[in-house]
Amino acid sequence: MRTRILMLKPGADLDRLQSSLRGLGIWTQGLTSGQDDPRALTIEPHSRRVPDDVLASLEGVQSLLASPSDTPKLDALAGQSIQVGKLAIGGGAPPVLAAGPCSAESPELVLAAAADAARSGARLLRGGAFKPRTSPYAFSGCGAEALGWLREAANVHSLGLVTEVMSERDVDSVGAVADLLQVGSRNMANFALLREVGRVGKPVLLKRGRAASLEDWRQAAEHLLHGGASGVIFCERGVAGVGDQRETRNTLDISAVALLKQVERAVVWVDPSHAAGRRDLILPLSRAALAAGADGLLIEAHPEARIARSDGAQALSSAELERLGEELFV
Ligand code: PEP
Ligand code: MN
Repeated sequence: MRTRILMLKPGADLDRLQSSLRGLGIWTQGLTSGQDDPRALTIEPHSRRVPDDVLASLEGVQSLLASPSDTPKLDALAGQSIQVGKLAIGGGAPPVLAAGPCSAESPELVLAAAADAARSGARLLRGGAFKPRTSPYAFSGCGAEALGWLREAANVHSLGLVTEVMSERDVDSVGAVADLLQVGSRNMANFALLREVGRVGKPVLLKRGRAASLEDWRQAAEHLLHGGASGVIFCERGVAGVGDQRETRNTLDISAVALLKQVERAVVWVDPSHAAGRRDLILPLSRAALAAGADGLLIEAHPEARIARSDGAQALSSAELERLGEELFV
């Protein structure tokens, strides 16, 4: 379904135009969110079918276009950087490193991990307060309390914060502390969650579902933007491969990174940790990701990986993170 887009004349009287549109049964949204003065409006699909020439002749309308794709909001952001806190990501800016533990296990761990991240050249701290786990009996994070530990540690080291929101219930509390809200692989197509996360109006790191096509992934991003997210960073974290997960956890789809980055001009990160599932492959996969054009890396690191409560096998030690940072980011 092709979305129809109203291109506006410069200085168009938006209030007047909106009331004419409503009178015709037409509902719209700004093409890009967060702009008081949009240059274009998308027509919502539940609007009444009004002939194109009637719409094109309304005061303030320059022209009427049919979006060339079914992801008009994503297309409108092509080639642009995404503002994450004080940091511009993508759109030609140098790649950034986000590092930290899989799970925010204690205030002390988070603080030590943030110090390691900062020392290694990271610009953002990662860490989960809410952990999606395959087994219902596995440690599932410390919950809302850990959000405060993460924000505090990020502040101490002047880092941005990326952390996962797993449930609609937690959108406001995560939205209040995160500079970048992470939607995990298992929730990529949870459309109710995507809508709520969008409502926060912040940028979102959208992990790829383990078996999601690029089309499904793009549509999930469009859901976020339609909900109000200020931008979406695609995060490739490995997809289901042909193996049995004993050698590598997932298959890092470098083609997807190159395609989204070089062809679609989207903002793309790579998470080699969840792709590999083992720490010895993190550095080579990181090199590959940057070679393909990734705008950032999301890497799990733990000062004491041996006793990590989740994903210890793929966590870099403090020294390993520092070496990776030195080679790729400093
Ligand atoms: C994570 O980054 O901690 C995580 C759970 O990743 P994914 O959703 O990619 O499995
Ligand atoms: Mn993890």
